[in-house]
Amino acid sequence: MSFESLGLAPALLRALAEQGYAEPTPIQAAAIPVVLEGGDLLAAAQTGTGKTAAFSLPLLQHLSTAGATQTRRPRALVLTPTRELAAQVHDNLRDYGKHMRVSSTTIFGGVSMGPQMQALRRGVDIVIATPGRLIDHMQQRSVDLSGVEVLILDEADRMLDMGFLPALKRILSAVPRQRQTLLFSATFAPPIKALAMQFMHQPREVSVTPVNSVATTVTHHVHPVDAAKKRDLLLHVLAQDSRRQTLVFSRTKHGADKLVKQLEMAGLRAAAIHGNKSQNARTRALSDFKSGRITVLVATDIAARGIDIDQLPIVINFDLPMVAEDYVHRIGRTGRAGADGMAVSLVSHEEAGLLRDIRKLLKQEIAVSEVPGFELSHPLRTDAAAPKPVQGQRQPRQARPQQGSHRPHGNNGYGKGSERPAEGNRKRRRPGRPAAKA
Ligand code: AMP
Repeated sequence: MSFESLGLAPALLRALAEQGYAEPTPIQAAAIPVVLEGGDLLAAAQTGTGKTAAFSLPLLQHLSTAGATQTRRPRALVLTPTRELAAQVHDNLRDYGKHMRVSSTTIFGGVSMGPQMQALRRGVDIVIATPGRLIDHMQQRSVDLSGVEVLILDEADRMLDMGFLPALKRILSAVPRQRQTLLFSATFAPPIKALAMQFMHQPREVSVTPVNSVATTVTHHVHPVDAAKKRDLLLHVLAQDSRRQTLVFSRTKHGADKLVKQLEMAGLRAAAIHGNKSQNARTRALSDFKSGRITVLVATDIAARGIDIDQLPIVINFDLPMVAEDYVHRIGRTGRAGADGMAVSLVSHEEAGLLRDIRKLLKQEIAVSEVPGFELSHPLRTDAAAPKPVQGQRQPRQARPQQGSHRPHGNNGYGKGSERPAEGNRKRRRPGRPAAKA
């Protein structure tokens, strides 16, 4: 499946090639055709699946082709639970739309309203907003939502968790009834279904269901290790058979690059494959790996998704994935077609909670063994209070999941930078004053 075959405009294809995206992720392949047709869409997909591009690409295509009006009113509204996510969506829209003339702006709390008002007055095609601050602008009459053709609710489940339902209802009553509505959520939990029933018109449903099973021919090994010693332990494991083709997973792009440098310094032939690499670099790394020119390929989850490697004896998790399902995707690269495979995870104290999630998902015990010379400074705890790392790249201020969230894998806590609900338990602010602090 290619982006071309989804019917995307050349300007978008160019931008995607520049981003180094080789092929659509499953949610993109499923959602883009539906959205391009103009129908409402209810999509179950969590962060990390490529969901932002799944709605951004057809949105940009619509706005750049469907009769641009002379009005200054926004033609599309993207609602997000947090300012971080709003900023991230904005960045992505700018990246994907860089060869198009579609303008966008963010509206969120914690910064002064003045510049936002000016941007709205100048006129903008897409507004990416958190509900609370958007309501403030509606009260100030600084935003006119009557021209909205496409409404997108991103991480809708999280907006409901955060108490934004009254705000959402108010915003929904201010946008035209005749519109396209796209709702993205990690799950189709009953409150999401209820929201969809009330505000959407015969939505098509797509979901990217994680495959929660791994081949029985794969053996799982966990080596607990202090974070500072992980790199040395990786070298130790790799040295056990330096000719063996090994796929190593890193949680972040930066981490992958750093690891490759360190492996090269240790004399190994390695390359990284991730979203910041050009398409050429990714293709070259993959073919070098397949041909055996390099023995270690360091990949991030999303970059590895589209890569097709037939059979590997071993996959090493340098970092555990933030989402337990990704462990299954990673491990799916080994133990194929009845062959034996090995999954080795290097787990530091900070990742003990992630290991617990993976065990729960796999419904099986994973052998934990310390490697002599790499013994832990204190025991790994995998009980209910086991820690989880904060996610590094792109969402640097992410915090631990909030309690009571119904996100199934609650790894995507934007808690720290979150806005408070717009209504109900929020005091009225005077206009122009900064919104709720993060
Ligand atoms: P999202 O789920 O929208 O937060 O996307 C997660 C990450 O995947 C982002 O860093 C995107 O840049 C990246 N991404 C999105 N689509 C693709 C694709 N088709 N191929 C590779 N990376 C992608």
